[in-house]
Amino acid sequence: SSRFADVAQAPPDPILGVSEAFRASTSPNKLNLGVGAYRDEDLKPVVLSVVKKAETKIVGRAENKEYLPIEGLDAFRKATVDLLLGAGHPAIQEGRVAVVQSLSGTGSLRVGSAFIARFMKGATVYLSNPTWGNHRNIFGDENVEWKYYRYFDADTVGLDFKGMMEDLTAAPAGSVVLLHGCAHNPTGVDPTAEQWGAIADLCKERNLLPFFDVAYQGFATGDLDKDAFAPRLFVERGLEIVVAQSYSKNLGLYGERVGALVMVLNDKEAATRCLSQLKRLARALYSNPPTWGAKIAAEVVNDKELFDEWKGEMRGMAGRIERVRGELKTALDAKYPDKDWSFITRQIGMFSFTGLTPAQASGGRRVDNMTNKHAVYMTRDGRISLAGLNSAKVDYLANAIVDSVR
Ligand code: PLP
Repeated sequence: SSRFADVAQAPPDPILGVSEAFRASTSPNKLNLGVGAYRDEDLKPVVLSVVKKAETKIVGRAENKEYLPIEGLDAFRKATVDLLLGAGHPAIQEGRVAVVQSLSGTGSLRVGSAFIARFMKGATVYLSNPTWGNHRNIFGDENVEWKYYRYFDADTVGLDFKGMMEDLTAAPAGSVVLLHGCAHNPTGVDPTAEQWGAIADLCKERNLLPFFDVAYQGFATGDLDKDAFAPRLFVERGLEIVVAQSYSKNLGLYGERVGALVMVLNDKEAATRCLSQLKRLARALYSNPPTWGAKIAAEVVNDKELFDEWKGEMRGMAGRIERVRGELKTALDAKYPDKDWSFITRQIGMFSFTGLTPAQASGGRRVDNMTNKHAVYMTRDGRISLAGLNSAKVDYLANAIVDSVR
């Protein structure tokens, strides 16, 4: 028998487990609305045209496979801060931005979590309720204490702004607040510009450190600049921020693991020292980041022509999602007019938080009904990814939802 005979089975990941179940399904109607990855109108994965062009250029240069520096590729580090703050931002010119290229959004969050564990001992991280499920693992595995702040209001299917502000006001000074930069996952509910301003002011007043998870820049409005509104506003108001950036969704580089952990600070010396510590943490976690995806992202963002073309492709992806959103709402309005479906088009980004519950006192198990009866694969929190839907499947999905909600 094994010395590890006592190791218990870990629970399947609630999001990635959905894709596994989908692959195993033999239903001809099966629909995967679980994972947040963009699909085209044929529900096929997409490699962006700008990515193909960038790859051709990079291959042409026949570069070597040497290690990158611990902090990553310089051209990528410049590109990623330009994308976040806008090229030429004063914080960049003043050298008060610390950047490490890391393993996409998740790895960048984890480096940030390790930084908090080491340099903000005893600080609690406040997570929105609900949030992307992996946030709890990322902080929990570094033994960083986390708590929820109120975020989603099921009655209005909108933001519980009052509850959020109350909870953050009650957070001890020196706490960390994890904020979704845009296109909140899983709810699709973002604060308004005015509310963002109030959140920034509260963070300043209460000395809270804002930690932005920017995984969907471009997917909220289709515009990369507009979607960076919140972190840019916080910096404008003089706050120091930490940001985890991901190119998985907006550049479609999922498996290449491209992202960065960025700290925008108030002085250059602090940025230099923090960067040295981020490198120290990365060295022990994975030593140095992968090259290929970083070269692609750098090529696209640093080349005016490719950057403009990317903006067009971004609008195309965001636009397709917005269109199927509208079609789904129209179909649901027609099939079940007694219910208010307007939340579907009010929500933004890749997801819709449908309000379907795993187990409901009266209505049976609704998500189970979606999956077991209709072969619609989705997470048990009721989230569906609209990136996995096309016009041809709207009617089928609407019937499944109505059957599960009634
Ligand atoms: N943060 C949020 C809110 C996400 O939804 C995701 C991916 O689903 C990530 C971070 C990280 O993704 P990745 O590690 O692929 O960049």
